[in-house]
Amino acid sequence: MMLKVEAVTRQFGGFKAVDGVSLQLARNEILGIAGTNGAGKSTLFAAIAGQQPADAGRIMFDGQDITRTPPYRRARMGLVRTFQIPREFKSLTVHENLLAAAANPQGERLVNAFFQTRGLRAHEAQLADKADGILQFLNLARVRDVKAGGLSGGQKKLVELGRVLMLDPRCILLDEPFAGVNPVLIEEICDRVRELHARGIAFVVIEHHLQALKALSNRLIVMDRGRVLAEGDPRTVLDDPRVQEAYMGG
Ligand code: ADP
Ligand code: MG
Repeated sequence: MMLKVEAVTRQFGGFKAVDGVSLQLARNEILGIAGTNGAGKSTLFAAIAGQQPADAGRIMFDGQDITRTPPYRRARMGLVRTFQIPREFKSLTVHENLLAAAANPQGERLVNAFFQTRGLRAHEAQLADKADGILQFLNLARVRDVKAGGLSGGQKKLVELGRVLMLDPRCILLDEPFAGVNPVLIEEICDRVRELHARGIAFVVIEHHLQALKALSNRLIVMDRGRVLAEGDPRTVLDDPRVQEAYMGG
């Protein structure tokens, strides 16, 4: 298993946003996570990627315990996430946004990036080429020099994906990649995810858009009030009466 989440809990005050969640992800998988608003999905990602470390439980990546490893080190190991609300630098161009992600991966302290500036300069041209290759892959070459703040919702989601691809990930956590994205671009994002998956990148995808998630995922988990409510084959899970009740009741 590439990723193992073992009974992870994350509290805010006394409130358990994530309450004893366990899951596993194999190298060759796309795992979907569904669940109503407030179920704890984004907080689970924050625990896995390290922005909100687990209060209890354990997270293993490639056989290493990363439960308390800082986010930028998890990113260097190949474990990265995107955010539900895209975090692009609005006044930087699309290309510059990708370069910035490589210089400051997943919350690495800016002071580190500053002291690494000389080293980065040596790789500048190489990084610029790498960013251009990724923009081409994502069909964003046209907007390369456009300020990211002016992009559509779907393009911002693609930039968010481009930023994590700069880090040569082996496991990508996508938080609501289809939210606010038009249907044509949803299909395009799905195709890019499938291509990356075919190249050997594993995915965990949080999504409200159940049809797209069902089509994309090999396996599906539904969360409810901080816990795993159901898990298994996407079709079976979505037909589960408890899942339907949680969605109706939510
Ligand atoms: P989801 O992504 O499934 O919609 P979240 O993980 O964002 O759910 O939130 C789960 C619960 O934890 C919600 O009740 C939310 O209000 C709460 N929560 C999330 N982040 C914080 C935080 N930083 N401080 C306090 N409460 C939080
Ligand atoms: Mg969320």
